[in-house]
Amino acid sequence: MKIINFHLKLLIMTLMLIQVSLEGCKPEKPVEKAGPMLKDMIKTANNEITILPISHASMILKIKDKTIFIDPVGDKALYSAYPNPDLIIFTDNHGDHLNVDLVKEIKGAKTIILGPKAVEEKLKGIKIIGNGEKTTLAGMTITAMPMYNTTKERLKYHSKGRGNGYLFEIDDKRIYHSGDTEDIPEMRSLKNIDAAFICMNLPYTMTEEQAASAVLEFKPKIVYPFHYRGAENKFSDLEKFKKLVSVNKEIDVRLLKWY
Ligand code: ZN
Repeated sequence: MKIINFHLKLLIMTLMLIQVSLEGCKPEKPVEKAGPMLKDMIKTANNEITILPISHASMILKIKDKTIFIDPVGDKALYSAYPNPDLIIFTDNHGDHLNVDLVKEIKGAKTIILGPKAVEEKLKGIKIIGNGEKTTLAGMTITAMPMYNTTKERLKYHSKGRGNGYLFEIDDKRIYHSGDTEDIPEMRSLKNIDAAFICMNLPYTMTEEQAASAVLEFKPKIVYPFHYRGAENKFSDLEKFKKLVSVNKEIDVRLLKWY
């Protein structure tokens, strides 16, 4: 009996030793660091909307077989992997939103271009849409929203009525695009927003506090911060924005790769 016990003990000790040494060999668990996403997808009742950040204010939406470019600027190579857009939407005529030469390179024969009058002045032949007006294109109902500055020393950047933010309605989903703006009442009073693109670069638009305060008021389900590179290449503090918004756990702040 004693011999058996001894052998059992020996076996257990050996097994323990093997386990210890095996654990020592285990590769270190990779630290999962979720970086900003290269794309995101929102499911609607009948479709899915793919969101592709290009840079700063430029993005691509894909809805079913439709391709929509919003404020495309930058090198044309950024767009070469995508089909000719069915629709190009502009918010404003500033250089970080509109490049007339690029439009000629990336538009197809059937591309419809939509934007405010201020864009049409630089790019003829587009369909003009002004604040409060509504149209249906590429499977979306598009409502142009005001976007403007409200802080005295920033009024010179975006005057009310010149540019457009947008409300896109696709099936049962409502997506808000802020354009370049501060936390205006038209944003704060939005209802039932499924996803919102929120700008926050200084000195041209708003601070992290303004953006977070507005978001907490209109409570979109998902928020994509974008357009957050300011003067002298200073970026807004996204961690600060996320922390401020985190008091409402229902709001999902999603970081896309804009830069
Ligand atoms: Zn801008």
